[in-house]
Amino acid sequence: MPREFSLDKYRNIGIMAHIDAGKTTATERILYYTGRIHKLGETHEGASQMDWMTQEQDRGITITSAATTAQWNDHRINIIDTPGHVDFTVEVERSLRVLDGSVALLDAQSGVEPQTETVWRQATTYGVPRVVFINKMDKVGADYLYSVGTLKERLGANAHPIQLPIGAEDNFEGIIDLVTMQAYFYEDDLGTRAYATDIPDEYKDQADEYRASLVEAVAELDEDLMMKYLEGEDFTTEELKSAIRQGTCDVEFYPVLVGSAFKNKGVQLLLDAVIDYLPSPLDVPAIEGFKPDTEEEVVRKSDDNEPFSALAFKVMTDPYVGKLTFFRVYSGTLKSGSYVKNATKDKRERVGRILQMHANHREEVPEVYAGDIAGGVGLKDTATGDTLSDEKNLVILESMEFPDPVIAVAIEPKSKADQDKMGVALAKLAEEDPTFQTETNEETGQTIIHGMGELHLDVIVDRLKLEFKVEANIGSPQVAYRETFRASAEVEGKFVRQSGGRGQYGHVWVKFEPNEEGGGYEFHDKIVGGVVPKEYIPSVD
Ligand code: GDP
Repeated sequence: MPREFSLDKYRNIGIMAHIDAGKTTATERILYYTGRIHKLGETHEGASQMDWMTQEQDRGITITSAATTAQWNDHRINIIDTPGHVDFTVEVERSLRVLDGSVALLDAQSGVEPQTETVWRQATTYGVPRVVFINKMDKVGADYLYSVGTLKERLGANAHPIQLPIGAEDNFEGIIDLVTMQAYFYEDDLGTRAYATDIPDEYKDQADEYRASLVEAVAELDEDLMMKYLEGEDFTTEELKSAIRQGTCDVEFYPVLVGSAFKNKGVQLLLDAVIDYLPSPLDVPAIEGFKPDTEEEVVRKSDDNEPFSALAFKVMTDPYVGKLTFFRVYSGTLKSGSYVKNATKDKRERVGRILQMHANHREEVPEVYAGDIAGGVGLKDTATGDTLSDEKNLVILESMEFPDPVIAVAIEPKSKADQDKMGVALAKLAEEDPTFQTETNEETGQTIIHGMGELHLDVIVDRLKLEFKVEANIGSPQVAYRETFRASAEVEGKFVRQSGGRGQYGHVWVKFEPNEEGGGYEFHDKIVGGVVPKEYIPSVD
């Protein structure tokens, strides 16, 4: 089967935003306009199409990094979901790794917020081209030019408006496109009836002024245009567009757009901008890797005729098919039912079925091509970050690095009978999420889980309940420690209740052993919980 869209017509993008800036709403609108959803849902009332894990709907945040495939103007747009909460910055990094461009979404009232800064820096590290969408222009306090200012001041970004809003707050009526010098108005709340017209007289001066500064900024990006600019000539729409595209793809320029996802204004123009300004897989540098045996460098071009290579970026437990491994194909093609090598783990894997997710349905596809993003069913050993490779032309693509977890808590099932079930479930979750770890503390016998933040671990507890039917409590882990102090011989081998050592798990008991090195007794770290040890002595001198 031939590919449906040529590679230059692919856009693999993410949407990055501070929580509540409107990413879910914007994504949903995009999916609506791209024809895959036929009814708009309210994101925080559980009807959202993008957040397909129940608990995300409960919490109103987006955690998973699934990908959704859409079409716009004869192009394929794959939207890789990037989480907004700061606890999940690692998941953000993981998706930044496999996308080619991104929409940075800001709230028009707040401009750049702390999480925007974090994600923006990560995107810069990964060299991800960005267009900026200033959302919520209909909201009280919305201020477009202030928000543009925060991009320059807080992020030092070379960001320039390519659009201006017509009106603000309740009076936000339309958008001026500074590239085509046209105005767009919306007739209804669904935004489906939009029409282009001349810029209204009262906005002409402002539009001319911002067009002139756009032209000046773009001239800086291109020598030929600079010559033209210095000679006082205006640029054609095509010249402007192609220079903005080049600057954006080179990560030297950030075009700024405006709208209200909620009021359905500006979303179609945003989709046009994604196609006009963000790179296709052919516009980004070819991916590099190495041969597993010789470590010799390998470059894999985005081309169907190259050997197959792909990077797994998300492993999920899917309600229908079980383990679903999302991967981005960098080169070559893959047919469902065929074998690949997980080059990272040196394991042969069969990709039984290949699925692509649309907003409200999943599609089983017989084959995927360079540039595609899909979920594979049947992979047993593949984890996030692993390279899937043609069996005869092995490559390990540059791997992703994950920071160590930053917090640890103890977890115990509400019912003791669930202990084993909980162990299995935690191991499965750890397999999906490289920033989540689980272990049994030898000293205390407690199960300790490690993650990126409190919310991250709360989500784990939720998932245990929802997906594995294990209810669990978390609390501070008991700390094991060792210290030497002097005590009389009668305490040897006996337990003493540590003063003030009453925590959530009952008293802390310590046992004395003779100190080999020099007199006295060692204060050992036996922790027995609420049970009074047999050798208990009530006090020491
Ligand atoms: P996310 O956390 O970034 O995914 O944000 P959501 O899309 O869930 O939106 C957060 C809140 O902002 C919701 O109550 C939305 O209805 C609201 N919202 C989203 N877009 C807009 C907008 O363009 N204008 C206004 N006024 N509210 C919006």
